[in-house]
Amino acid sequence: MKRTLIKNISVEKGNIVTIKGWIDVARDQGKMAFFDLRDATGKVQGVVFGKPEVLEVAKTLRPEWVVAVTGIVNERNDKSAQEFKEHEEQTGTRDFFIKDVEIEITEFEILNRAETPVFEINESTADINEEVRLKNRYLDLRTERMQNNLRMRHKVAKLCRDYLDEQGFCELETPILTKSTPEGARDYVVPARLSPHQFYALPQSPQQYKQLLMSSGMERYFQFARCMRDEDLRGDRQPEFTQLDLEMSFVTEEDIMQLNEELLIKIVTELYPEKRIQQVPFPRISYAEAMEKYGNDRPDIREDKDDPNLLAFCWVIDFPFFEKTVDSDDPQAQGEWTFTHNPFSLSKPEHIDNLKNKENIGDIIAAQYDITLNGYEIGGGSVRAHDAEVLKSILSILGHSDEKIEENFGHMLQALGSGTPPHGGIAWGFDRLMMILQNEKTIREVIAFPKNGEGREPMMDSPSAVSQQQLDELHLALKPLKKES
Ligand code: ASP
Repeated sequence: MKRTLIKNISVEKGNIVTIKGWIDVARDQGKMAFFDLRDATGKVQGVVFGKPEVLEVAKTLRPEWVVAVTGIVNERNDKSAQEFKEHEEQTGTRDFFIKDVEIEITEFEILNRAETPVFEINESTADINEEVRLKNRYLDLRTERMQNNLRMRHKVAKLCRDYLDEQGFCELETPILTKSTPEGARDYVVPARLSPHQFYALPQSPQQYKQLLMSSGMERYFQFARCMRDEDLRGDRQPEFTQLDLEMSFVTEEDIMQLNEELLIKIVTELYPEKRIQQVPFPRISYAEAMEKYGNDRPDIREDKDDPNLLAFCWVIDFPFFEKTVDSDDPQAQGEWTFTHNPFSLSKPEHIDNLKNKENIGDIIAAQYDITLNGYEIGGGSVRAHDAEVLKSILSILGHSDEKIEENFGHMLQALGSGTPPHGGIAWGFDRLMMILQNEKTIREVIAFPKNGEGREPMMDSPSAVSQQQLDELHLALKPLKKES
């Protein structure tokens, strides 16, 4: 029989239907058996009574078995049915658990059996040991909360895609096997078998490629880009994470900020109508003011920190372009100049002469903006240096010799010198945005298969050793590990 999705079952009152899914809960009550049945679209109650041969099968069924269930759809008249209807009237939405009808089961087909799951699937796993959850991630993802997190992630991504498409953006992919770029973090490297003793680097972000797409005349690019940074895994960091990355030609800071603001507002109003944005247009605060008032550059400006549905977006602007590195052995000792955000940024127009002449370096303000939400940085970007001479000057302030500049950035300088339009962009930390929208505490709750705190993925058990043959093909020899002291 044709499959009916559980979400569509209410209109089938009086009809015989077949649903396919999982046994969520099984309750044996002697002469009767009750089930909560689940598919990706909802849950519904099933009952067996008065049919000894069906009841006999029913009593063997266990949670997480996969079944096709056929039966007649009956109206329910109990208290939960009443509450369900009231909820629907008040909110205009249906709950995941459909309670205005139930299925009187006449037939079961067992499609697959299941071992007893290591934790309950029919309740939130938020309090279960995370290592156990990650080891059994496919079970964890069956829970309603995790299903909802992933499905909302899809909806937000789709809304972004549709919006950016309407705005003339082109979704393009950039290489995963690429070259080390100076973006601040350590690179993940991949040995190149065909070029022995040479390595690709995994991208920390598509920064250079997206700028090169502006040189290519694409004018408006975006990508849900996977970024890899080999950093120590403090707190909520993941070795790989997702950015909504975009770049635009012929724009000012203002244009980029406005477009992003409009998109963020659209996400909230269309997909999170229960949430309230504290202030529109989003307030703007300078880096200096943020540091003075809040002691950090991602101020939490919420009026009420107990309200889970309050979203306080804020732009942080006017960042210094350069800062002195601090010697970790002697925090008082001022080191070399380093960039605060992105070496490819431009300064504010009034500071371009300083940039070109390498004067008053500490006072140069970058044409850069971060977007923060409830005390988290959820994105950042800048208008870029599109003049090769300006980029050269920035790189030389950062201490690169002419030779190194040519070696590492020759391609960028050539592209800029080949008719690159003025351009700028931004990247959102998409996992972090989803974490906040879904009221979760870590980004791992909104990523299907995250790594744990040690950077390991316990289910597949990666990273793992490779065979001697693989090492030989790559011309690699492993040094013995130093004993931990
Ligand atoms: N690529 C930058 C980053 O990852 C964002 C940007 O400037 O567009 O932080």
